[in-house]
Amino acid sequence: MANPVLPSSGALSPLGLDAVRLSPGFWGDRVALNHEVTIAHCQEWMEREGWIGNFRGDRPRRGREFSDSEIYKLLEAMAWAGHPELPALAETVARAQEGDGYLNTRWTGSRYTDLEWGHELYCYGHLIQAGVARLRNHGEDRLTEVAVRAADHVCRRFMDGTQTCGHPEIEMALVELYRATGTERYLELARRLVERRGLPALGEIHLGRAYFQDDVRLRQAQSFRGHAVRALYLACGAVDVAVETGDEELLKSIETQWERTVARRTHLTGGMGSRHADEAFGEDYELPPDRAYSETCAGIASIMLSHRLLLATGDARYADLAERTLYNVLATALALDGRSFFYANPLAVRVPAEPVIGVVNHSAGGGLRSPWFDVSCCPSNIARTLASVAAYVATGSGDGVQIHQFTPGEIRHDGLALRVETGYPWSGEVRVRVLEGGGGRISLRVPAWASGATLRYEAAGAAPDGGRDGAGAGGSEAVRRVEPGYAVVERDWRPGDELRLELPMAPRWTYPDRRIDALRGCAAVERGPLVYCAESVGDEPPLTGMAALPSSPPAEHSSDGTVELEVEAVLGTPDSDAWPYSSKAGGWPYQPQREPGTGTGTALRLVPYHRWGNRGPATMRVWLPVADRTVADETVAEKTVAEKTVAERPSAG
Ligand SMILES: [Zn+2]
Repeated sequence: MANPVLPSSGALSPLGLDAVRLSPGFWGDRVALNHEVTIAHCQEWMEREGWIGNFRGDRPRRGREFSDSEIYKLLEAMAWAGHPELPALAETVARAQEGDGYLNTRWTGSRYTDLEWGHELYCYGHLIQAGVARLRNHGEDRLTEVAVRAADHVCRRFMDGTQTCGHPEIEMALVELYRATGTERYLELARRLVERRGLPALGEIHLGRAYFQDDVRLRQAQSFRGHAVRALYLACGAVDVAVETGDEELLKSIETQWERTVARRTHLTGGMGSRHADEAFGEDYELPPDRAYSETCAGIASIMLSHRLLLATGDARYADLAERTLYNVLATALALDGRSFFYANPLAVRVPAEPVIGVVNHSAGGGLRSPWFDVSCCPSNIARTLASVAAYVATGSGDGVQIHQFTPGEIRHDGLALRVETGYPWSGEVRVRVLEGGGGRISLRVPAWASGATLRYEAAGAAPDGGRDGAGAGGSEAVRRVEPGYAVVERDWRPGDELRLELPMAPRWTYPDRRIDALRGCAAVERGPLVYCAESVGDEPPLTGMAALPSSPPAEHSSDGTVELEVEAVLGTPDSDAWPYSSKAGGWPYQPQREPGTGTGTALRLVPYHRWGNRGPATMRVWLPVADRTVADETVAEKTVAEKTVAERPSAG
């Protein structure tokens, strides 16, 4: 079966990528863009920067010490996409492999002399994942042969001893190779590498051992910490090891760390990582919007982790976070033309970035998408993720199909064939039509934000209104309310039967926990799974000094196949250089000059966060300072006092 993750047990089973066919729609369009544009774009830049040439070895090596891994992620994307260029690129890689299976263009001749920073096992991890992708989607060939030889070399060199790599990644790759081949030593090495971390297994570095999760044993840690991508890749490997070895304690520990990290160290977008200096998680509630790092790769790693936990447990909260991160990190990181990328995904940008056109960006920044970076881990990660994004859409089990992400397409499992029709995430209507019938349950995820969602079953051939009283033709059912989690319908399905899920898509104001200091006094707007933001391009009104009036609900405008919103705001022009602190709470310009909710503020346009930065250099903010909070609180307080006074007054009668 072709799927990046195929655990041998768990609550839910992945479906083959060919069993989930995406049609045009939010994700189908991005998959097509990836196949037609992004994969070739990545290959062109890797050739241009000499990273592919490093494998030919005919001139001085170029690129960072981990650049081999980008070729491997590209090969994985090509493997899932069935790309015609794969065999030639795999051949170039194969020729650089040494007799004993060692393969690295940077460290050949000085192998394993810098495990803290060398990334050798990290690179093998991506090579092995590419090999597994090729094996499952095509069969054995040159690429799978290279990957297996590399894995065998690593087993010989690292099975005994105490060493590991500074950048986790190979752990999950080895487990997947074990799943694909049945060779137990791959699982055993993965298990040992997970257990070694924290003993410690690596040398001291200036960023501290938490940077590469070598400060405590993984199963004893409280939450994810240190370099976000490292931490999340390691957690993926640990879940894989736990599932294959039946290590309940390890699985439970990762679930607990996930919970705590989501509660305290995750941005509204699902993005992870607060610190630019070491690309790391911050402390609990350290979530500044303007300094949010939220690396694209950390978002992808978080989706990979949530998916693994979903497969292991069947708990909808994992699919909820995957959805949030898919729409607000993965989709944001790729430009609408498929040719430029965000590395960091901050939630506020104060100064428009300088465009980076046709050259390598040396800063991870986050102000404007770039065609390529000197550390270009994100573009190829986006390419391999989009090439296999169907893996996140649906799963199967012995008793039916579970649909976790809503996007148009066809799903097949166990004789049942379903067509999903929806304009999601713009529309909240999801229709699941049975093409080929069978018995079993169809489960539809109801996202945590979708309270008030409804579901209706309509039997084949029933009149559109035939079932409203519950006694319609063919057993159609009345519309019923469904709660967040999974809405389950069990029937003997016949072709033409239909389920209609209605998710409430009214825009909603979202307020942060007061413990997140950097967000206090702010609010954001969400609609369905999408986070929105204000964006200012060129001579559009500046966002500095603006403040929103959340007392009025956001208005919707359809635009260019998407939905934009409008909120009421006070726009300031803060050109004063006065001391920015005063004895007056609130302070200029956030005190509106008029009563809130009177409709007299200025209209502020909000766009989906994933679309920002596509019109050129811009300033942007997701979290909007709230203008009327003080006034509203005072009004409520006065009213409460007045009511209390009335209630407490002794009866005159
Ligand atoms: Zn990255």
